[in-house]
Amino acid sequence: MSQAALPQPAPSGPAPWRPRVAHPEADVDLVAAEEAAADLLRALGLPLGTEAMIDTPRRMAHALAEMVTAPPFDFTTFTNAEGYDEMVLVEDIAVRSVCEHHMLPFTGVAHVGYLPGDRVLGLSKLARLVDFYARRPQTQERMTTQVADHLQRHLTPRGVGVIIEAEHTCMSLRGARAHGTRTVTSALRGHLREDPAARAEFLHLTRHSKEAT
Ligand code: ZN
Repeated sequence: MSQAALPQPAPSGPAPWRPRVAHPEADVDLVAAEEAAADLLRALGLPLGTEAMIDTPRRMAHALAEMVTAPPFDFTTFTNAEGYDEMVLVEDIAVRSVCEHHMLPFTGVAHVGYLPGDRVLGLSKLARLVDFYARRPQTQERMTTQVADHLQRHLTPRGVGVIIEAEHTCMSLRGARAHGTRTVTSALRGHLREDPAARAEFLHLTRHSKEAT
């Protein structure tokens, strides 16, 4: 998994600062993907000649391409002019991703918090960042780490906490058919990892004080 490119570091000068976040350009060939989808469906013994399914390979190719392509966005930060030093927490950010082992969706929510240093992040950018890392073939563990490390590296806050809870359809629809099970992952950095009080506050605010301690 390649890391997102982002120039460093955030300046201490006038706000705002908007570095672009983008994955390396992917070579998407939708025509080849559509042909491959048709081959896959035929190999599974499914009829492609019916009115309902004649267009399915094209829809499959476009749907999969959309799920694994994240649009670039601006990681907009501002000088922390007010010296705000309490936790900034955005809860219940929608997570829609695809597990890299089965190419089946996993969906759930992310809770992302940080203790500001010299800069604060535009609030909508936490959701954009989660979506940016979700729209790849992923594992939940790696995605959790990537969101935390991205914030730690490029926002340089005093601490970062990320919790993701998701249901994996590769577990609930097939195999174990463990319907309704949630997988919870967490990544704590800086103060939120080292200071027991800050850690407890984050886990309490995200209602995970029992599960993640
Ligand atoms: Zn899977």
